Amino acid sequence: MKPSIAQRIRGLNPSQQEAVHAIDGPCLVLAGAGSGKTSVITTKIAYLVKECGMSARRIAAVTFTNKAAREMKERVGSMLVGKEGHGLTVSTFHTLGLNIIRGELKALGYKPGFSLFDPEDAKALLRDLMNKDAQVDAEAINAVQGQISQWKNDLVLPGEALSHAADDDAHFAARVYEAYVRHLRAYNAVDFDDLILLPVVLLRDSPEVLARWQRKIHYMLVDEYQDTNVSQYLLVKLLMADRQTFTVVGDDDQSIYAWRGARPENLITLGEDFPRLKVIKLEQNYRSTGTILRAANALIAHNPHVYEKTLWSQMGDGAAIRVVVNRHEEAEAERVASEILTRRIKESAAWRDFAVLYRGNFQARLLELKLQHYQIPYKISGGTSFFSRGEIKDAMAYLRLLINPADDNAFLRIVNVPRREIGPSTLEKLANYATERGTALFAACHEMGLEQHLPERAVERLTRFTQFIDGARRRMDSGDAIAAIRQMMTEMDYEAWLYQNASAPTVAERRMGNVWILIDQLEKSLNRDPEDNSPEDSNSEDTDSTATETDSVDAAISRLVLRDILEQQAEEDDSDRVQLLTMHASKGLEFPHVYLMGLEEDLLPHRNAVENGSVEEERRLAYVGITRARRTLTLTLARQRKTYGELSDCTPSRFLDELPAEDLDWEGRPDKEDPEKKQARGQSALADLRSLIN
Ligand code: ATP
Ligand code: MG
Repeated sequence: MKPSIAQRIRGLNPSQQEAVHAIDGPCLVLAGAGSGKTSVITTKIAYLVKECGMSARRIAAVTFTNKAAREMKERVGSMLVGKEGHGLTVSTFHTLGLNIIRGELKALGYKPGFSLFDPEDAKALLRDLMNKDAQVDAEAINAVQGQISQWKNDLVLPGEALSHAADDDAHFAARVYEAYVRHLRAYNAVDFDDLILLPVVLLRDSPEVLARWQRKIHYMLVDEYQDTNVSQYLLVKLLMADRQTFTVVGDDDQSIYAWRGARPENLITLGEDFPRLKVIKLEQNYRSTGTILRAANALIAHNPHVYEKTLWSQMGDGAAIRVVVNRHEEAEAERVASEILTRRIKESAAWRDFAVLYRGNFQARLLELKLQHYQIPYKISGGTSFFSRGEIKDAMAYLRLLINPADDNAFLRIVNVPRREIGPSTLEKLANYATERGTALFAACHEMGLEQHLPERAVERLTRFTQFIDGARRRMDSGDAIAAIRQMMTEMDYEAWLYQNASAPTVAERRMGNVWILIDQLEKSLNRDPEDNSPEDSNSEDTDSTATETDSVDAAISRLVLRDILEQQAEEDDSDRVQLLTMHASKGLEFPHVYLMGLEEDLLPHRNAVENGSVEEERRLAYVGITRARRTLTLTLARQRKTYGELSDCTPSRFLDELPAEDLDWEGRPDKEDPEKKQARGQSALADLRSLIN
């Protein structure tokens, strides 16, 4: 039988209990890795609902990654049954922002069916804007994109960016920013950073809207608080300004998103903004063995500290931390894969008990090949995500165009996919025509005047295309929306196009399969309890209270686009697989056996970080990686690695020197290995193999 909530709370330590019971005012839990911060959040949600009689609809818990949100949902789901959890928000910051935007379209001046631009779409728009006067290179576009994102995260609007511009470059970037924002609005589109920025500006400037959301959300919980940026912090502050009932948990040693605008100082600001703040520290670690914890503590002690924290564990010392030096990167990948293969049986573990963490996604490529070679099932988070596949991008573009005909990027992506013989010169003329009149490309195709600019045949083809999309939209509005989408894909014979363009029929088949998976996914998300988008208390006509089916299809499509941006795998996959992920993506998670790859200078710490003087952030990243491990930790490195096509020698990471030497068990350390030990290891490896075979 499941333990009751009272029993669960009794299982917590006194500081954790104090944190769960602190519900009347602002509460900050500041504690190291594995000390139960997330557990406090999930237990507290259940406590609020079951013991304090708060409706789950009134509670919003937010975190940073989809994976973490899903994990939190699962933990809460095991405590709340049936209707108890109905209407509860457990999501990423960005999904909460998206929901606020959807509920406040009118107040924001957006039309229903707005588009969410992913970074590639945003870049395409910036490229257009920046190429107006002179040809600019990709680097310049990236720099401006980064700058705009930083402004948005810091809540700096175009006017302010312009007035504070100190030099020509900043001035140029601010002007592009201004034009970019204007164009996004014209396209009825928002970008990723807008998901936080727009709600914050709206809540700040509109007391009625603020009051509405304050009536809806009575209690907020924020996990990984150290990674909030200025805009995200303001979102919490505004929503909670009146009631002051929230719990945030964090660990300044795990702040790894400074490059995305995170402000660990928000931990201090919180105390200033909410003088009643109750600060609770947790010191017992329940996750890792003593050895792993000692290594983590020793490493992070090399960083300066605002808050001193000591972490201890009752788990016993456990195994030593292995450091495996390999000849080159391929040998490293081979070693990790073959070890997992044998250790799974030896330790009677499941595949999912193993996680391999690395600094950059490119490090996963060789490993993937080796895992495939041994037929080890694995799941890779980020990088080669389902949504980065061409066929999925095509299908998404069709969906986006269906819900927002003003989405020019979507239009351009699929106007000729499958082939409709609409050539580049036609598109160029169409684009000029649309720009002159300030209309979207799709709308321009409908205009009579177009005939004077384009040959009759071109106009005919464009019209055929728009009629096709309009027809699909009409069917979507008048009946079964998903059936209409399926019919659209079949009618245009996208499948035949895939067969024409694929290297082998099986490839085309798989690609078409992916498209159907996407549509199935959309259907599922439609049937699932639709997310609560509008503040329930509002009885004003400001929010659309009558959600029609197409409204919800539109909402489901926007959610899919958001997942796309967050690089979420299409299917929530909890099957038994080895987990491959970047250290950044591993935050908040835990695994019995962890491999950290590439413990070399230039990789961890990353060369750029060393050059920018941000080694401390890299150390925190390594700390995050190490503290994911519950029972065993293996650190691997290569003596040589290919960089930019050339083989170069690698230096072991400085972080290795910062770990307690007596807890490390080196294998292949140049000049330092004890030959006797080496021989003994060789024999034990042989014995391992023999015992496996027998
Ligand atoms: P991180 O900083 O990595 O996010 P965290 O502080 O959020 O870590 P949790 O993930 O909540 O830590 O907890 C770590 C592990 O310890 C989990 O497996 C959790 O179930 C367990 N745990 C937490 N509190 C207790 C407790 N009082 N008794 C036993 N186990 C606990
Ligand atoms: Mg956590």
